[in-house]
Amino acid sequence: MRRPTARALLATPVAALSLTGLALSPMAGASLPFGPETVAVADYTAPHGGVDESTRYVVTSAAEHDDHFAAAARVDTVRDASGQELVISKTTADRIPAMNSAVAGERAPGFRSFATLAEAEAFIASDRSAEAVQQQLALPAIDNQATVSPWLEEVQESRIRQTITDLSTSWPNRYYASSHGKAASAYLHDAWSSIAGEREDVTVAYDESCGSDCGVQQNVTMTVQGTENPDEIVVIGAHYDSISDTGSGDSMQAPGADDNASATATVTEVAQVALANGWKPKRTVVFAAYAAEEVGLVGSDAMARDHAAQGKNVVGVLNQDMTNYDGGSTDMALMQDNTNTELNSFNSELFDTYLAPKGMTLGTMECGYGCSDHASWTAAGYPASMVSESELFPQLHTTGDALENTGGTADHSVKFAQFGLAFLGEMAKTGA
Ligand SMILES: [Zn+2]
Repeated sequence: MRRPTARALLATPVAALSLTGLALSPMAGASLPFGPETVAVADYTAPHGGVDESTRYVVTSAAEHDDHFAAAARVDTVRDASGQELVISKTTADRIPAMNSAVAGERAPGFRSFATLAEAEAFIASDRSAEAVQQQLALPAIDNQATVSPWLEEVQESRIRQTITDLSTSWPNRYYASSHGKAASAYLHDAWSSIAGEREDVTVAYDESCGSDCGVQQNVTMTVQGTENPDEIVVIGAHYDSISDTGSGDSMQAPGADDNASATATVTEVAQVALANGWKPKRTVVFAAYAAEEVGLVGSDAMARDHAAQGKNVVGVLNQDMTNYDGGSTDMALMQDNTNTELNSFNSELFDTYLAPKGMTLGTMECGYGCSDHASWTAAGYPASMVSESELFPQLHTTGDALENTGGTADHSVKFAQFGLAFLGEMAKTGA
Protein backbone atom coordinates (compact mmCIF):
# COMPACT_ATOMS: atom_id res chain seq x y z
CA MET A 1 0.00 0.00 0.00
CA ARG A 2 1.22 3.48 -0.78
CA ARG A 3 1.84 5.80 2.12
CA PRO A 4 -0.11 9.03 1.73
CA THR A 5 1.97 11.64 -0.03
CA ALA A 6 2.34 15.27 0.97
CA ARG A 7 -0.37 16.28 -1.46
CA ALA A 8 -2.75 13.83 0.14
CA LEU A 9 -1.82 15.15 3.58
CA LEU A 10 -2.50 18.71 2.53
CA ALA A 11 -6.02 17.70 1.65
CA THR A 12 -6.66 16.40 5.17
CA PRO A 13 -8.37 18.41 7.93
CA VAL A 14 -6.46 21.03 9.92
CA ALA A 15 -6.10 18.87 13.02
CA ALA A 16 -4.33 16.16 11.07
CA LEU A 17 -2.10 18.75 9.41
CA SER A 18 -0.81 20.16 12.67
CA LEU A 19 -0.04 16.65 13.91
CA THR A 20 1.92 16.05 10.74
CA GLY A 21 3.78 19.29 11.28
CA LEU A 22 4.82 18.08 14.72
CA ALA A 23 6.04 14.81 13.34
CA LEU A 24 8.27 16.64 10.86
CA SER A 25 9.87 18.84 13.51
CA PRO A 26 13.28 17.95 14.97
CA MET A 27 12.92 15.43 17.77
CA ALA A 28 12.56 16.85 21.25
CA GLY A 29 15.59 16.93 23.50
CA ALA A 30 18.17 17.31 20.76
CA SER A 31 20.60 20.19 20.97
CA LEU A 32 20.33 22.38 17.90
CA PRO A 33 22.70 25.33 18.29
CA PHE A 34 22.37 26.37 14.67
CA GLY A 35 18.58 26.28 14.62
CA PRO A 36 17.68 24.04 11.69
CA GLU A 37 14.51 25.05 9.96
CA THR A 38 11.35 23.10 10.59
CA VAL A 39 10.37 21.85 7.18
CA ALA A 40 6.87 22.85 6.22
CA VAL A 41 4.59 20.12 4.95
CA ALA A 42 3.98 22.14 1.81
CA ASP A 43 7.69 21.87 0.90
CA TYR A 44 7.46 18.15 0.84
CA THR A 45 6.10 17.18 -2.52
CA ALA A 46 5.30 13.80 -4.00
CA PRO A 47 6.70 11.34 -4.90
CA HIS A 48 9.28 11.57 -2.12
CA GLY A 49 6.78 11.21 0.71
CA GLY A 50 5.53 7.86 -0.45
CA VAL A 51 6.92 4.79 -2.13
CA ASP A 52 8.95 6.13 -5.03
CA GLU A 53 8.59 3.73 -7.93
CA SER A 54 10.44 5.91 -10.41
CA THR A 55 12.97 4.04 -12.53
CA ARG A 56 16.68 4.13 -11.64
CA TYR A 57 19.49 2.78 -13.78
CA VAL A 58 22.27 1.39 -11.61
CA VAL A 59 25.88 1.08 -12.81
CA THR A 60 28.27 -1.18 -10.93
CA SER A 61 31.13 -3.58 -11.56
CA ALA A 62 30.19 -6.99 -12.96
CA ALA A 63 31.54 -8.68 -9.84
CA GLU A 64 29.58 -6.40 -7.54
CA HIS A 65 26.43 -6.98 -9.57
CA ASP A 66 26.75 -10.76 -9.39
CA ASP A 67 27.58 -10.70 -5.66
CA HIS A 68 24.95 -8.28 -4.44
CA PHE A 69 22.58 -6.88 -7.04
CA ALA A 70 21.64 -9.85 -9.19
CA ALA A 71 17.97 -9.24 -8.37
CA ALA A 72 18.08 -5.99 -10.35
CA ALA A 73 17.23 -6.54 -14.01
CA ARG A 74 20.38 -6.52 -16.12
CA VAL A 75 20.04 -4.14 -19.06
CA ASP A 76 23.51 -4.18 -20.54
CA THR A 77 27.11 -5.19 -19.91
CA VAL A 78 29.79 -2.77 -21.09
CA ARG A 79 33.46 -1.97 -20.57
CA ASP A 80 34.65 1.42 -19.38
CA ALA A 81 37.78 3.26 -20.56
CA SER A 82 39.97 1.34 -18.11
CA GLY A 83 38.66 -1.99 -19.40
CA GLN A 84 36.56 -2.75 -16.34
CA GLU A 85 33.42 -4.78 -17.02
CA LEU A 86 30.35 -2.92 -15.81
CA VAL A 87 26.70 -3.90 -15.57
CA ILE A 88 23.82 -1.50 -16.09
CA SER A 89 20.68 -2.73 -14.36
CA LYS A 90 17.21 -1.34 -13.96
CA THR A 91 15.39 -0.95 -10.67
CA THR A 92 13.12 1.51 -8.87
CA ALA A 93 14.07 4.21 -6.39
CA ASP A 94 12.29 2.51 -3.48
CA ARG A 95 14.49 -0.59 -3.92
CA ILE A 96 17.77 1.33 -3.59
CA PRO A 97 17.89 1.11 0.25
CA ALA A 98 17.60 -2.68 0.04
CA MET A 99 20.35 -2.76 -2.60
CA ASN A 100 22.48 -0.65 -0.32
CA SER A 101 21.96 -2.95 2.65
CA ALA A 102 22.87 -5.92 0.43
CA VAL A 103 26.45 -4.72 0.72
CA ALA A 104 26.18 -4.28 4.50
CA GLY A 105 29.51 -4.56 6.23
CA GLU A 106 31.30 -3.48 3.08
CA ARG A 107 31.95 -0.10 1.56
CA ALA A 108 28.71 1.18 0.10
CA PRO A 109 26.88 2.11 -2.00
CA GLY A 110 29.19 0.41 -4.50
CA PHE A 111 27.20 1.71 -7.43
CA ARG A 112 26.18 4.84 -9.27
CA SER A 113 22.57 5.51 -10.20
CA PHE A 114 20.88 7.56 -12.90
CA ALA A 115 17.34 8.57 -13.83
CA THR A 116 17.63 7.41 -17.45
CA LEU A 117 19.52 4.79 -19.42
CA ALA A 118 20.90 7.55 -21.65
CA GLU A 119 22.44 9.27 -18.60
CA ALA A 120 23.97 6.02 -17.38
CA GLU A 121 25.48 5.32 -20.80
CA ALA A 122 26.70 8.90 -21.16
CA PHE A 123 28.40 8.66 -17.76
CA ILE A 124 30.27 5.50 -18.74
CA ALA A 125 31.28 6.97 -22.11
CA SER A 126 32.66 10.15 -20.51
CA ASP A 127 34.21 8.53 -17.41
CA ARG A 128 37.75 9.93 -17.12
CA SER A 129 38.85 7.81 -14.14
CA ALA A 130 41.55 5.96 -16.09
CA GLU A 131 43.46 9.17 -16.85
CA ALA A 132 42.64 10.91 -13.55
CA VAL A 133 44.30 8.27 -11.37
CA GLN A 134 47.54 8.55 -13.39
CA GLN A 135 47.47 12.32 -13.91
CA GLN A 136 50.83 13.98 -13.14
CA LEU A 137 50.42 16.79 -10.63
CA ALA A 138 52.44 19.83 -9.61
CA LEU A 139 51.99 19.25 -5.90
CA PRO A 140 53.32 21.85 -3.47
CA ALA A 141 56.16 21.33 -1.02
CA ILE A 142 55.07 20.56 2.54
CA ASP A 143 56.27 23.80 4.10
CA ASN A 144 53.33 25.44 5.89
CA GLN A 145 54.03 24.23 9.42
CA ALA A 146 53.59 27.78 10.71
CA THR A 147 49.88 27.56 9.91
CA VAL A 148 49.16 23.84 10.21
CA SER A 149 50.91 22.91 13.47
CA PRO A 150 48.97 25.38 15.66
CA TRP A 151 45.71 24.32 13.97
CA LEU A 152 46.18 20.71 15.03
CA GLU A 153 46.09 21.70 18.69
CA GLU A 154 42.88 23.69 18.22
CA VAL A 155 40.69 20.75 17.14
CA GLN A 156 37.96 20.20 19.75
CA GLU A 157 36.50 16.75 20.31
CA SER A 158 33.47 18.23 22.07
CA ARG A 159 32.56 20.31 19.03
CA ILE A 160 32.82 17.33 16.66
CA ARG A 161 30.80 15.20 19.10
CA GLN A 162 28.08 17.86 19.23
CA THR A 163 27.78 17.98 15.45
CA ILE A 164 27.59 14.17 15.22
CA THR A 165 24.94 14.17 17.96
CA ASP A 166 22.90 16.89 16.26
CA LEU A 167 23.01 15.18 12.87
CA SER A 168 22.27 11.68 14.17
CA THR A 169 19.57 12.42 16.77
CA SER A 170 17.64 15.46 15.53
CA TRP A 171 15.74 13.43 12.94
CA PRO A 172 15.06 9.72 12.30
CA ASN A 173 17.16 9.86 9.11
CA ARG A 174 18.94 12.13 6.65
CA TYR A 175 17.67 10.23 3.61
CA TYR A 176 17.79 12.23 0.38
CA ALA A 177 14.07 11.81 -0.23
CA SER A 178 12.78 12.71 3.22
CA SER A 179 11.90 16.01 4.88
CA HIS A 180 14.52 15.14 7.52
CA GLY A 181 17.19 14.91 4.85
CA LYS A 182 16.18 18.37 3.74
CA ALA A 183 16.23 19.65 7.33
CA ALA A 184 19.78 18.30 7.66
CA SER A 185 20.88 20.34 4.65
CA ALA A 186 19.41 23.46 6.27
CA TYR A 187 21.21 22.62 9.52
CA LEU A 188 24.55 22.46 7.68
CA HIS A 189 23.84 25.64 5.74
CA ASP A 190 23.18 27.40 9.06
CA ALA A 191 26.20 25.87 10.81
CA TRP A 192 28.56 26.80 8.01
CA SER A 193 27.05 30.29 7.69
CA SER A 194 27.83 30.90 11.34
CA ILE A 195 31.43 29.77 10.72
CA ALA A 196 31.68 32.06 7.67
CA GLY A 197 30.41 35.02 9.68
CA GLU A 198 30.47 38.35 7.86
CA ARG A 199 33.48 37.65 5.65
CA GLU A 200 32.96 38.80 2.07
CA ASP A 201 35.46 36.28 0.72
CA VAL A 202 33.49 33.33 2.17
CA THR A 203 30.24 32.14 0.58
CA VAL A 204 27.86 29.45 1.85
CA ALA A 205 25.44 28.09 -0.74
CA TYR A 206 23.17 25.30 -1.83
CA ASP A 207 24.88 23.91 -4.91
CA GLU A 208 22.10 23.67 -7.48
CA SER A 209 23.89 21.32 -9.87
CA CYS A 210 22.03 18.21 -8.70
CA GLY A 211 18.47 19.47 -9.16
CA SER A 212 15.71 16.97 -8.47
CA ASP A 213 18.13 14.03 -8.80
CA CYS A 214 19.11 14.75 -5.18
CA GLY A 215 15.51 14.42 -4.01
CA VAL A 216 14.76 17.24 -1.58
CA GLN A 217 18.43 17.66 -0.63
CA GLN A 218 21.17 19.69 -2.29
CA ASN A 219 24.92 19.71 -1.84
CA VAL A 220 25.92 22.40 0.67
CA THR A 221 29.13 24.31 -0.07
CA MET A 222 31.29 26.90 1.64
CA THR A 223 33.75 28.62 -0.69
CA VAL A 224 36.74 30.63 0.56
CA GLN A 225 38.14 32.78 -2.23
CA GLY A 226 41.88 32.36 -2.84
CA THR A 227 44.03 35.48 -2.51
CA GLU A 228 46.74 34.60 -5.07
CA ASN A 229 45.47 31.71 -7.21
CA PRO A 230 41.68 31.93 -7.02
CA ASP A 231 41.23 29.77 -10.14
CA GLU A 232 42.96 26.81 -8.47
CA ILE A 233 40.40 24.97 -6.34
CA VAL A 234 41.00 22.65 -3.38
CA VAL A 235 37.94 20.59 -2.33
CA ILE A 236 37.44 18.91 1.03
CA GLY A 237 34.13 17.16 1.58
CA ALA A 238 31.95 14.39 2.97
CA HIS A 239 28.43 13.12 2.33
CA TYR A 240 25.77 13.96 4.90
CA ASP A 241 22.84 11.78 3.80
CA SER A 242 22.04 8.47 5.51
CA ILE A 243 20.21 5.26 4.62
CA SER A 244 18.95 1.95 5.96
CA ASP A 245 16.54 -0.71 4.75
CA THR A 246 13.81 0.21 7.23
CA GLY A 247 11.19 1.88 5.09
CA SER A 248 11.09 4.85 2.77
CA GLY A 249 10.96 8.60 3.12
CA ASP A 250 10.31 10.11 6.54
CA SER A 251 9.67 6.79 8.27
CA MET A 252 13.15 5.35 7.63
CA GLN A 253 15.28 4.81 10.76
CA ALA A 254 18.84 5.70 9.75
CA PRO A 255 20.79 7.69 12.37
CA GLY A 256 24.01 7.43 10.34
CA ALA A 257 26.25 8.63 13.17
CA ASP A 258 29.42 7.06 11.77
CA ASP A 259 28.19 6.94 8.16
CA ASN A 260 28.51 9.79 7.73
CA ALA A 261 27.67 12.36 10.39
CA SER A 262 31.22 11.67 11.58
CA ALA A 263 33.03 13.00 8.52
CA THR A 264 30.47 15.76 7.98
CA ALA A 265 31.45 16.81 11.50
CA THR A 266 35.18 16.51 10.83
CA VAL A 267 34.92 18.66 7.69
CA THR A 268 32.87 21.18 9.69
CA GLU A 269 35.58 21.20 12.38
CA VAL A 270 38.28 21.73 9.74
CA ALA A 271 36.41 24.81 8.53
CA GLN A 272 35.78 25.99 12.09
CA VAL A 273 39.45 25.80 13.09
CA ALA A 274 40.82 27.20 9.82
CA LEU A 275 38.49 30.18 9.69
CA ALA A 276 38.42 30.96 13.42
CA ASN A 277 41.34 33.37 13.21
CA GLY A 278 40.70 34.93 9.82
CA TRP A 279 42.88 32.57 7.77
CA LYS A 280 42.96 33.30 4.04
CA PRO A 281 44.12 30.66 1.53
CA LYS A 282 46.19 31.42 -1.56
CA ARG A 283 44.08 28.96 -3.55
CA THR A 284 40.29 28.86 -3.45
CA VAL A 285 38.92 26.29 -0.99
CA VAL A 286 35.53 24.58 -1.32
CA PHE A 287 34.11 22.72 1.69
CA ALA A 288 31.39 20.35 0.46
CA ALA A 289 28.63 18.39 2.20
CA TYR A 290 27.38 16.00 -0.47
CA ALA A 291 23.73 15.03 -0.84
CA ALA A 292 22.36 11.65 -1.95
CA GLU A 293 25.60 9.65 -1.80
CA GLU A 294 23.95 6.51 -0.48
CA VAL A 295 21.70 6.20 -3.52
CA GLY A 296 24.61 6.16 -5.97
CA LEU A 297 26.99 9.13 -5.46
CA VAL A 298 24.34 11.38 -6.99
CA GLY A 299 25.21 14.71 -5.33
CA SER A 300 28.98 14.57 -5.78
CA ASP A 301 28.61 13.31 -9.35
CA ALA A 302 26.50 16.35 -10.26
CA MET A 303 28.91 18.74 -8.54
CA ALA A 304 32.05 17.24 -10.08
CA ARG A 305 30.57 17.15 -13.57
CA ASP A 306 29.35 20.73 -13.18
CA HIS A 307 32.90 21.82 -12.32
CA ALA A 308 34.22 19.96 -15.37
CA ALA A 309 31.56 21.44 -17.65
CA GLN A 310 32.59 24.92 -16.50
CA GLY A 311 36.26 24.10 -17.08
CA LYS A 312 37.13 24.71 -13.44
CA ASN A 313 40.64 23.82 -12.31
CA VAL A 314 40.23 21.53 -9.30
CA VAL A 315 43.81 20.81 -8.16
CA GLY A 316 43.05 18.33 -5.38
CA VAL A 317 40.10 16.69 -3.62
CA LEU A 318 39.97 15.06 -0.20
CA ASN A 319 36.93 12.94 0.62
CA GLN A 320 36.25 11.60 4.11
CA ASP A 321 33.66 8.87 4.71
CA MET A 322 33.29 7.19 8.15
CA THR A 323 35.82 8.54 10.66
CA ASN A 324 34.72 7.67 14.19
CA TYR A 325 35.04 3.87 14.61
CA ASP A 326 38.38 2.93 16.14
CA GLY A 327 38.31 -0.79 15.38
CA GLY A 328 41.13 -1.27 12.89
CA SER A 329 44.81 -2.05 13.07
CA THR A 330 45.72 1.48 11.95
CA ASP A 331 44.13 4.82 12.81
CA MET A 332 43.30 5.67 9.23
CA ALA A 333 43.21 4.09 5.78
CA LEU A 334 44.16 5.80 2.53
CA MET A 335 42.12 4.50 -0.41
CA GLN A 336 44.24 3.18 -3.27
CA ASP A 337 41.65 2.76 -6.03
CA ASN A 338 39.84 5.47 -7.97
CA THR A 339 42.26 7.94 -6.39
CA ASN A 340 45.24 9.83 -7.85
CA THR A 341 48.53 8.04 -7.23
CA GLU A 342 50.61 11.19 -6.75
CA LEU A 343 48.04 12.77 -4.45
CA ASN A 344 48.09 9.58 -2.37
CA SER A 345 51.87 9.89 -1.99
CA PHE A 346 51.44 13.53 -0.99
CA ASN A 347 48.86 12.49 1.62
CA SER A 348 51.22 9.85 3.01
CA GLU A 349 53.90 12.52 3.37
CA LEU A 350 51.40 14.81 5.07
CA PHE A 351 50.57 12.04 7.50
CA ASP A 352 54.25 11.37 8.22
CA THR A 353 54.89 15.07 8.77
CA TYR A 354 51.97 15.94 11.01
CA LEU A 355 50.21 12.87 12.44
CA ALA A 356 52.84 10.13 12.74
CA PRO A 357 54.79 12.23 15.29
CA LYS A 358 51.63 12.15 17.43
CA GLY A 359 51.77 8.33 17.38
CA MET A 360 49.15 7.80 14.68
CA THR A 361 49.34 5.12 11.99
CA LEU A 362 48.17 5.03 8.37
CA GLY A 363 47.19 1.96 6.36
CA THR A 364 45.81 1.41 2.89
CA MET A 365 42.50 0.04 1.65
CA GLU A 366 40.75 -0.80 -1.61
CA CYS A 367 37.38 0.87 -1.79
CA GLY A 368 35.68 -0.77 -4.79
CA TYR A 369 33.49 0.57 -7.58
CA GLY A 370 31.46 3.69 -6.74
CA CYS A 371 32.16 3.35 -3.03
CA SER A 372 32.17 7.02 -2.10
CA ASP A 373 32.30 10.59 -3.40
CA HIS A 374 35.98 10.78 -4.38
CA ALA A 375 35.04 8.45 -7.25
CA SER A 376 32.80 11.18 -8.69
CA TRP A 377 35.67 13.67 -8.86
CA THR A 378 37.96 11.01 -10.32
CA ALA A 379 35.36 10.17 -12.97
CA ALA A 380 35.15 13.87 -13.87
CA GLY A 381 38.91 13.87 -14.51
CA TYR A 382 40.15 15.47 -11.29
CA PRO A 383 42.83 14.29 -8.82
CA ALA A 384 41.01 12.97 -5.76
CA SER A 385 41.83 11.11 -2.56
CA MET A 386 39.95 9.52 0.31
CA VAL A 387 40.58 8.57 3.92
CA SER A 388 38.38 6.60 6.31
CA GLU A 389 38.52 4.46 9.42
CA SER A 390 40.63 1.38 8.64
CA GLU A 391 38.05 -1.17 9.81
CA LEU A 392 34.53 -0.27 8.77
CA PHE A 393 31.98 0.11 11.55
CA PRO A 394 29.93 -3.12 11.30
CA GLN A 395 26.59 -1.40 11.96
CA LEU A 396 26.74 1.02 9.01
CA HIS A 397 23.38 1.40 7.24
CA THR A 398 21.48 -0.03 10.22
CA THR A 399 19.48 1.47 13.07
CA GLY A 400 22.52 0.72 15.26
CA ASP A 401 24.72 3.37 13.61
CA ALA A 402 24.53 5.56 16.73
CA LEU A 403 27.29 7.49 18.51
CA GLU A 404 27.04 5.34 21.65
CA ASN A 405 27.97 2.31 19.55
CA THR A 406 31.29 3.87 18.53
CA GLY A 407 32.24 4.64 22.12
CA GLY A 408 30.16 7.77 22.73
CA THR A 409 32.98 10.19 21.95
CA ALA A 410 34.44 11.78 18.81
CA ASP A 411 38.01 10.90 19.79
CA HIS A 412 38.73 9.01 16.58
CA SER A 413 37.28 11.74 14.37
CA VAL A 414 39.68 14.26 15.92
CA LYS A 415 42.49 12.55 13.97
CA PHE A 416 40.62 13.01 10.69
CA ALA A 417 39.96 16.68 11.42
CA GLN A 418 43.70 17.06 12.01
CA PHE A 419 44.48 15.29 8.75
CA GLY A 420 41.96 17.49 6.94
CA LEU A 421 43.63 20.60 8.35
CA ALA A 422 47.05 19.39 7.18
CA PHE A 423 45.62 18.78 3.69
CA LEU A 424 43.95 22.18 3.67
CA GLY A 425 46.92 24.17 4.92
CA GLU A 426 49.45 22.50 2.63
CA MET A 427 47.31 22.30 -0.52
CA ALA A 428 45.82 25.79 -0.30
CA LYS A 429 48.71 27.51 1.56
CA THR A 430 48.38 30.71 3.57
CA GLY A 431 47.73 33.94 1.72
CA ALA A 432 48.14 37.50 2.83
ZN1 LIG B 1 29.21 6.76 3.68
